[in-house]
Amino acid sequence: MSARVLLVDDLELNRKLLEAQLRREYYQVSSVASGLEALAAAKADQPDIILLDIMMPGMDGFEVCARLKADPATRHIPVVFVSALDERVDRLRGLELGADDFLTKPVDSAQLTARMRSLARLKIVTDELRLREAAGRQLGAIDGDPWRDNGLGARIVIVDDDTRRAAAIEAALGGQHLVVPVGRSAVSVGQARPDLILVTAAAAAFDGLRLIAGLRSSAASRNIPILALCDGDQPDAALRALDLGAHDVAYLPLDEDELAARVRTIVKRKRYVEAMRSFLDRGLEMAVTDQLTGLSNRRFLTTQLQGLVMRAARGGEPVSVILADIDHFKAINDTHGHDAGDEVLKALAARLSTSLRPADMACRFGGEEFVIIMPNTFADFAAMVAERLRRDVAAAPVAIGGGREIAVTASFGVAGVAAGDTAERLLKRADEALYRAKQAGRNRVVAEAA
Ligand SMILES: [Mg+2]
Repeated sequence: MSARVLLVDDLELNRKLLEAQLRREYYQVSSVASGLEALAAAKADQPDIILLDIMMPGMDGFEVCARLKADPATRHIPVVFVSALDERVDRLRGLELGADDFLTKPVDSAQLTARMRSLARLKIVTDELRLREAAGRQLGAIDGDPWRDNGLGARIVIVDDDTRRAAAIEAALGGQHLVVPVGRSAVSVGQARPDLILVTAAAAAFDGLRLIAGLRSSAASRNIPILALCDGDQPDAALRALDLGAHDVAYLPLDEDELAARVRTIVKRKRYVEAMRSFLDRGLEMAVTDQLTGLSNRRFLTTQLQGLVMRAARGGEPVSVILADIDHFKAINDTHGHDAGDEVLKALAARLSTSLRPADMACRFGGEEFVIIMPNTFADFAAMVAERLRRDVAAAPVAIGGGREIAVTASFGVAGVAAGDTAERLLKRADEALYRAKQAGRNRVVAEAA
């Protein structure tokens, strides 16, 4: 998997070495020599991964990372610190600033590429969601900032065979997260619906790598991030874990603060992806829903009806439509105001949709007009249903706020699908029937002439 890498290092020799290393693995590399250039390039070029030196004159790597993570235009880009420093305090500081990993110079090629592959995979998911984020905001489906999560309070599953180590992990994370006890099978782990799975790849009693592979292929756990705990002196296991789909690796002996920092970064990323996914679902729903009444809208109606009419035309099941229009709606608006008009529309929508069968679809067609699609229904039966709806509407007055009530009636036109029909023609016949119901004095049902 290739990716575009931004390399930041003040020393030309370091840049040359890493560039050559990355190009050998077919990454596209661009490099800059200072923190300020890095910020500008990150924003302008939107690389997939940023490899960041710490010790640089002027703005150091920590400052660059903090600024990248504070800017909505760059905060989603994974950052990996590459440094000659191997002090725990530096590593911790980098991870706490939101960096995804910390590699030590000279950089081990296998380690670098395993980490890059894993980060590039994550980036693909975020990129896709970000592309649709703008559309979601325009639709009004996304408000607030899904990135502003603190990464705390996650449900975490620990799979380890060493009870003392498991207890130590739990102690390291328990104050910030909820540790959920489960068994060791991929299925039981997935069913616990955790935010993160911590697998000890170095376990003696079971094959941790096999478990990671199993978790990645099982539908219940496929999207749950995994952090693999590997032996510090077995780097190959860490590479395998990343390649099998672990999001991150931490080494034994356990550094509790480092583990906590890594967990927070993973949890933040996961929650962002989840929030974006649910926003998108909401956006899809909003695109086919009438905001005032909660019924389906015209767009939904047209698509559904076209499908049903086409099926009927090919010899499939019949379909009928009821077109309903509130009587004297303009007068209601003029006399009682538009808020009252809205209350009437909502009440009508509720009365129409409660007396329908599950397969029937009530939609707001526009203005004070509603359409009910009745799959697998002939027009004569639809006319009977329309008559019941008419009675339901007229039976009780509608509350319009302020303790006021008004009597409301509606007129109904009914039509059933005919040979050679299209959705437009069917709706047009229902509309003609509705027109006759209005002409005949309103508050009545007229079915199209057979
Ligand atoms: Mg340097």
